[in-house]
Amino acid sequence: MRMPMIAGNWKLHKTRAEARDLIEGLKSQLEGLTGVEVVVAPPFTALETAAASLAGSAIQLAAQNCYPETTGAFTGEVSPLLLKDAGCRYVIVGHSERRQLLGESDEFINRKVHALSQAALGIIFCIGETLDEREADQMFDVLRRQVRLGLKGVTPDIMKDVVVAYEPVWAIGTGKTATDAQAQEAHAFVRALLREQLGQAAADATRILYGGSVKSGNVDGLMAQPDVDGALVGGASLKAEEFARVACFQTV
Ligand code: PEP
Repeated sequence: MRMPMIAGNWKLHKTRAEARDLIEGLKSQLEGLTGVEVVVAPPFTALETAAASLAGSAIQLAAQNCYPETTGAFTGEVSPLLLKDAGCRYVIVGHSERRQLLGESDEFINRKVHALSQAALGIIFCIGETLDEREADQMFDVLRRQVRLGLKGVTPDIMKDVVVAYEPVWAIGTGKTATDAQAQEAHAFVRALLREQLGQAAADATRILYGGSVKSGNVDGLMAQPDVDGALVGGASLKAEEFARVACFQTV
């Protein structure tokens, strides 16, 4: 009942011409694919180009970040309204690179969640523990804090627009993927947290993506886990053929 989502986070990669080429490649490789929602998240500067290339295709457009205000004196920032105007359907928030490199707090991420919801945009809400936290047996506490604070004030109605991405920080860009069992354990825990906070129906309906070195060689086992509803893909989303193979995962 949860439509799988395969989302590509391009991070700080791709000029407008490269974005167009990648999307054209994806469109031809994914033609006719059903039963999975495919999303690409180019950098801000390529959003408009990407939106034009995606016109008429089922692939959805996402931004990688936003600022939680609509307009005003916020130099260098981009609002949900502007992202919607550029053609975005989703926005990624809480990515560990922003939490770590830019010091984004759970409270700030929560403001973004509400601002995006007000703009009627879908939200890809990232959470995940560092290696130190996992080794210190703090993984469950960290996930609990990130969900409680990041989704504070979120109602079951707002939650319909939220996709959670569990991304263990030690698996991002490192080539180390969580095992299928580690991913399932964390996803089941996150779903239980959602149940406590939002009720059974919202928890059952929410898609929880796994992120961390997902590629064509490991996606099938991850997608076979009952609580894994998709993937947020970094490195492997930068080449059309590889990302298309991820999007065409098999669960048998
Ligand atoms: C990410 O950036 O969200 C990510 C999971 O990256 P990678 O797939 O490269 O680990």
